Amino acid sequence: METNTPRIDAHVHYLPPAARAALAADEPYWALLLGDRAGRPAPQGYADAARLLADMDAAGIDQVVIQGIYPQRQATAQAHNDAILQAMALSPGRLIGFAAAQPLAGAAAIDDVRRCVAAGMRGVGELNPYAQGFALDDPRWLRFVEACGRADLPICLHVNATVGPAYPGKSTLAPEACYELARRFPEVRFLLAHWGGGLFMHEIVPAVRQALRNVWYDTAASPLLYPTAAICAVARASGVLHKLAYASDYPLRLYPRTQREPDFRPFLADLDAQPWDAAERAALFGGTMAAVLRAPITTPHIAAPASTVGALGTIDEHTAVHLIATAAPEAGLLLERLGIVWQQRDAPAWQQLGQAAAARGLDAAARARLIATLRTIVAQSHEES
Ligand SMILES: [Zn+2]
Repeated sequence: METNTPRIDAHVHYLPPAARAALAADEPYWALLLGDRAGRPAPQGYADAARLLADMDAAGIDQVVIQGIYPQRQATAQAHNDAILQAMALSPGRLIGFAAAQPLAGAAAIDDVRRCVAAGMRGVGELNPYAQGFALDDPRWLRFVEACGRADLPICLHVNATVGPAYPGKSTLAPEACYELARRFPEVRFLLAHWGGGLFMHEIVPAVRQALRNVWYDTAASPLLYPTAAICAVARASGVLHKLAYASDYPLRLYPRTQREPDFRPFLADLDAQPWDAAERAALFGGTMAAVLRAPITTPHIAAPASTVGALGTIDEHTAVHLIATAAPEAGLLLERLGIVWQQRDAPAWQQLGQAAAARGLDAAARARLIATLRTIVAQSHEES
């Protein structure tokens, strides 16, 4: 084991036993996650700060990032942040806080993040758009991301693979949506939890790797999701070991059949058995998280939300369908009449007008007429507004 660099766990939660009742009462999604399942206890465990620090000592972990739980109510976020700040004060430097927030709360959420950062927190998350009820094109969410970017704060997002069987806590947020988010906010640092739901595999394509240059991945809850040796080998083959952060999701019980109590050691033992070289090990257990926490943003510019006429330029075959549709309501209606799906939740943001129209049977002449009509509609709506 390397001893010269601190060992960091990028993703734990602060869930003392007393937190369970409050979450179960105030947060329906967490109540579901924490509840017993067919008479068997949920894999969620609980640990107060003293227990957390003792378990870190037992496992040789120097620092942990306490990720906030993803709340539906901003009041829950603020109470949870208070608890994290109190825990941080017990052991300065060992417990690194990320702020919980409900981005739908608008200015109240942003103000509370500011309060937490002023008190020593270093980022925002874990956020879970599915469980918190916001879409990635919601203006309140976009403003929240912009505010985090301006404050140079990394954001941790819950992402999981959308392939495979159902399990409690599985979100419908597709890894592709996180790719679009990273493209929209290329200067904001994102830590995608749970291996980014497999998004990292697409980094074998150079253009994707470039688009995801400010995206990192953590291994939180991995043993519940993937065979350890296989997923580590896929990460190696994908060329992303330098942007992988060890994370547990403690106090979650990652081996619920054999593990009764929260414990960092079983997963660490599995990870330690993988064939890392020294540089890979250094990144996994600290270097990556240091980059997430400290990497300078490359330019101070934060991308503006793209769904405006100004971002549209001239409509042609290569214009993204959702940009056209959101530029003018009538344009969206026309596209819908032609059977061209454009809502971001139903269609990828990269979908271009020419291909989408050809796929609905419009030949070149019909597409040219469509483009002319759409230009007129968008220009008129721009003049009216
Ligand atoms: Zn998560």
